[in-house]
Amino acid sequence: MTGMHSFDRRSKRLSWKILSYALWRMRRNPDLDHSESEATLRARVGETITEDGIGGNKALQLWTDVLAKACISVDHDRFLAYVPGAPTEAAGMFDVAASAANIYGGSWQEGAGAVFAENEALRWVASIASLPDTAGGVFVSGGTAGNLSALIAARWEWRYRAKGAMDTTRGLIIASRTAHSSIGQAARVMDCDVALVDVDARGRMNAAETIATYEGLSEFNKSRVFAFVATAGTTNAGIVDDLKGIGEYADAIDIWFHVDGAYGGAALCAPTRRHLFDGIETADSFIVDPHKWLFAPFDSCALVYKDPRIARAAHTQHAEYLDALHTKNDWNPSDYAHHLSRRPRGLPFWFSLATHGTRAYSDAVERTLRVTEAGAEIITEAAHTELILEPELSVLLFRRIGWTPEQYQQWSDRVLQEGLAFVVPTSWNGETCLRLCIVNPETSPHDISLIVESLQ
Ligand SMILES: *Cc1c(COP(=O)(O)O)cnc(C)c1O
Repeated sequence: MTGMHSFDRRSKRLSWKILSYALWRMRRNPDLDHSESEATLRARVGETITEDGIGGNKALQLWTDVLAKACISVDHDRFLAYVPGAPTEAAGMFDVAASAANIYGGSWQEGAGAVFAENEALRWVASIASLPDTAGGVFVSGGTAGNLSALIAARWEWRYRAKGAMDTTRGLIIASRTAHSSIGQAARVMDCDVALVDVDARGRMNAAETIATYEGLSEFNKSRVFAFVATAGTTNAGIVDDLKGIGEYADAIDIWFHVDGAYGGAALCAPTRRHLFDGIETADSFIVDPHKWLFAPFDSCALVYKDPRIARAAHTQHAEYLDALHTKNDWNPSDYAHHLSRRPRGLPFWFSLATHGTRAYSDAVERTLRVTEAGAEIITEAAHTELILEPELSVLLFRRIGWTPEQYQQWSDRVLQEGLAFVVPTSWNGETCLRLCIVNPETSPHDISLIVESLQ
């Protein structure tokens, strides 16, 4: 046996083809591409799963010629919809290497080296958030999984402190109207409630409204509150909530404070924006997605707890066959989130961070911020477009003066088909508008000019 098995000998040569394809794909300036209907793909691809197999060469060719082209290139410099991603080559290639070894990242016993490396990366994340050295956590699949796991730990702590008095009481989360949809989803999964805090004109959650929302609750409902959630970089507008004011209040009344920085947390490493995050050090839990603005491939969310012991108590699974893992005081990533088996999805991020150094990360994030500022000027100067909000991070919200929602959608479809750009409409205070999210250091002001010109 030599490493991974391969049902037949042909597969060995195929591996080189796959590897060179991977490298080629990583290094090229990708076409934007676009989706196709299932019927179109079926017609072009035919049956792929057969009793004898179609062979690796054929499968790879179908992938490169048809299926890969039906996937929009997230790393294209004019993919500015949703939250794009722009992994470094070091991160992307190391993901390949980590998969080649099929490392189990759930326990120290099985994956100590990988877990050590992931924890190094988590320590850097904790340090840019000014969390104590004792902070720690785990990489999970994304912000949705990170928020859920953090809130499960928060609820566990609330019930534990109540010594049984709250075991059958529904919990309550305080979050803002502009919090990410995954907070509401976590509440549904956990069967608890959310009290929504009003936001200011920029969509920012501030301390006064947060306190008013909490104070306005009945005494019973106050006793149900187990977490305050603030967003460090709202997804739609890139606005950082008043972390200091909210965090200090949560601390004063001894309630868990969770900060969702899935998108914006990356800007903690940008000196020009660090002040926006003042107060993040009061967080009991914090997330940031390296697959968004920290140049790692999908899927990767860094989840950090100020006191990981609480998370461990909340999440550790016990079973006869697992007890061997808990005889020592090892750091088992499985114990810090809602999961058990896991790939070490923080490894690509760690490798790239170790390779390039943290300054390269600060510089790259700063570059996207400067491009965003230049983009704001381009939008302001053009006669047919209007900036809706001065950007705080790297999201630009703007309108094409005089357009209906249908015109926005038709334009979006057209520029995608033409391979020019991927930008989708969003809304702001009920008005349809456009949103650009800039996390790719390859995106330039010229790219934004091309998009603005195409709106004429
Ligand atoms: C993207 C995002 C999420 C969800 O993250 P996924 O990785 O897509 O699950 C949560 N919160 C915020 C603020 C986000 O921007």
